[in-house]
Amino acid sequence: MAGRVLHRLETLFSIGGGPANRPGLSLAEQRAHDLAAGWMAEAGLEVAVDAVGNLVGRAPGSSPELPEVWTGSHLDTVPDGGRFDGALGVVAGLEAVTAARARAHARTIGVVAFRDEEGCRFGQGYFGSRALCGRLGPAELDMCDASGTSIRRALASLRLPPPLPGSSMQPLPGVFVELHIEQGTSLADRDLALGVVGEIVAMAGLTVRFSGERAHAGGTAMTQRRDALIAAARFVLGAHSLARSDTAWRATVGELTVHRPASNVIADEVTVGVDARARSDESLDRLVAGLREVADGSARQGGCAWEASLAWQEPAVSMNPSVSQALAEAAGEPAAQPIAATSWAGHDAAILAAAGIPAGMLFVRAGRAGVSHSPQETADAADIAMAIETLDRALTNLADGGLGSGQATAHLRVRPTGSQPARSGRQAKYQCSMSKLDRGCPILAGWNPAILVL
Ligand SMILES: [Zn+2]
Repeated sequence: MAGRVLHRLETLFSIGGGPANRPGLSLAEQRAHDLAAGWMAEAGLEVAVDAVGNLVGRAPGSSPELPEVWTGSHLDTVPDGGRFDGALGVVAGLEAVTAARARAHARTIGVVAFRDEEGCRFGQGYFGSRALCGRLGPAELDMCDASGTSIRRALASLRLPPPLPGSSMQPLPGVFVELHIEQGTSLADRDLALGVVGEIVAMAGLTVRFSGERAHAGGTAMTQRRDALIAAARFVLGAHSLARSDTAWRATVGELTVHRPASNVIADEVTVGVDARARSDESLDRLVAGLREVADGSARQGGCAWEASLAWQEPAVSMNPSVSQALAEAAGEPAAQPIAATSWAGHDAAILAAAGIPAGMLFVRAGRAGVSHSPQETADAADIAMAIETLDRALTNLADGGLGSGQATAHLRVRPTGSQPARSGRQAKYQCSMSKLDRGCPILAGWNPAILVL
């Protein structure tokens, strides 16, 4: 089962030649959705696509009128991304749904692939899950990527009609459980394979623009300059120092744009994109206020002006204790240790939770020091197999009996000894799957991903 998951993840990774480059609402993401739709149909699930291209495969329960139980994640990636972020939750989630559907269950079980979770292309992520929950902004469809293509046009090129802003595509699932690679080291540090997430941190995108004076690199004395890039550089270092002053904060400058750049011209305008995260909403407010102070000091020191705006903001979200309890019970090992696992990465589960849907998350340990958003991202086959079994049990219990009653918010499971997969075996699986894409997907031939609103 884990072997098939790794094989499919490699197939997705190889779209476009690898590393993974599947921007939201791109043809590459569409190709991944087409493949996943084929795998869902192959597993006997009822496949549907909504107005923004979210994909769901359903195994109807005996009482289809009851709220549905969904798992899933996203299939888009950051530039030069890895194999597991998002895709693991869809591909392994499909395995869990396929296993769970073999048993009688009252509620319909589904696996969903959300669109454009990463937000790298249009600047704001969670597009598919926000659309599902009716949280698209009124002007959002007119936001453009770097090449000037709007979301509206990108959707049209995928033959999807634009959704009505602010509308909610009913019915929403009654429960959502997202399986995801950890993208950190808290599990690996404790030699644990799985973790149940208690909370997802608050986060915001801050855009800071520094303005100076454009001037000649040779003719302008070093003491007479108003260099916007120097102000931005001071800010980058200051933001880093600020975030290091509190363990509840993280701040990253991963984007810096010099307008009309030239090596012999002093920069007059520089835009800095800051990703700010904190354990609580109040803490995030303090961090953002601190970043503004740093920007002010950095600009003043060099005689520059500055302005800052929040590009996006997501509140801290707690996972539903009963869903977490169901996951903990499904992990069900005596040696399990409840700990408060925190996700420093944003996930679609946070969007559904904020919309009032009971949501939980199951983390799988990441290898290679937790590296993610990188082709180096990895996870062990044994851990993935354990995650599928746990998710299968949790979905079955949730589909049969609804939510658990416990109050546990976090739970981890110890990896059994001797479960390390043979590295060479996995590499062989990767290699044998590299040519799969060229063969096309016969199940999808003639399948019209037309528009079935969820
Ligand atoms: Zn992800």
